[in-house]
Amino acid sequence: MFADKVITIESSSVPRARLFIIYTGGTFGMTYNADGVLVPFNFESILEHLPVVRNMGLSFSVSSFQQPIDSSNIGPEHWRAIAREIQKHYDNHDGFVILHGTDTMAYTASALSFMLENLAKPVILTGAQLPVSDPRSDARENLITALEIASAVDNGRPVVPEVCIYFDYQLLRGNRSRKVESMQFDAFDSGNYPPLAKAGVKIDYNTTAIRPCPKGALVVNLKLDNRIAVLKLFPGITKEVMQSVFQANGLRAVVLETYGAGNAPNEPWLLEILRTSVANGLILLNISQCPGGRVVQGRYQTSRELERIGVTGGADMTTEAAVTKLMVLLGKYDTDVVKKKLSENLAGELTP
Ligand code: ASP
Repeated sequence: MFADKVITIESSSVPRARLFIIYTGGTFGMTYNADGVLVPFNFESILEHLPVVRNMGLSFSVSSFQQPIDSSNIGPEHWRAIAREIQKHYDNHDGFVILHGTDTMAYTASALSFMLENLAKPVILTGAQLPVSDPRSDARENLITALEIASAVDNGRPVVPEVCIYFDYQLLRGNRSRKVESMQFDAFDSGNYPPLAKAGVKIDYNTTAIRPCPKGALVVNLKLDNRIAVLKLFPGITKEVMQSVFQANGLRAVVLETYGAGNAPNEPWLLEILRTSVANGLILLNISQCPGGRVVQGRYQTSRELERIGVTGGADMTTEAAVTKLMVLLGKYDTDVVKKKLSENLAGELTP
């Protein structure tokens, strides 16, 4: 998946940090082809637009997807390749910056947060809403500040030892983020968790919100099981649609996107489908459609039955975190352990 060649850029003076950049594609490095459609181009061409990167007192190694992609095409195979690349270069670098399309950046950030257990170095994802070649592009600011954050140290320790998204002057925890905007520059937010930093004249870190550096060696979870579904409830959903999802071959878990504080219709046929599925060993995870707040099963009559049936409450997790947490846990544990771990705070993704 990665090109054989790793580009190395050495600072003229003694570098204050050694960073590893992973370029996957996305609008950041796209250009318009003859038909006026945006397609990805290679990292060398990106550097031509950002000569300042060479004068930041940093040294970089850059590894690029052989074929840079639009992030709509990303999947578990790419996450595995990225995690392996980070593992391979972990000891020799102080921090990592991943250039990625914005469409699925929150999924990739969430997946990596669960795959890279005991991460003690910054992994900062960033991208852009306009290609770097565009005079009004947000690419320059996003990359340069992401590099600053990935290299920031305090008393010899990394300031942000976790997987984050840096975008439009905000640093967000990766597994709390979601894409909320496709036309303005403020593409991400994290409704249930404060920003880890805001970038103005200086970068202000919210140190109490940042995870402490873990002890223990990095463990990389590469086995992901994607036999899951996401079902968003809507008023009028039919039995046939529900059944078709729950009867999918080999299905192991369903993220149920419910209303408000985790509520679903009381319809007997709907509850029966859920009851039978749980009895047959399927994991159901209740995530709210609301971008803010949390699931509290049993608060309303419309969620009490879900609790009784054995649906797992997803607290204040995003769907992106829920999906990727399930993939990693299912790749590692049996159903009972997965259910237990879903409610635990593994990588800062939920408030217990
Ligand atoms: N479709 C693009 C992608 O996600 C959008 C972007 O990068 O902003 O790769």
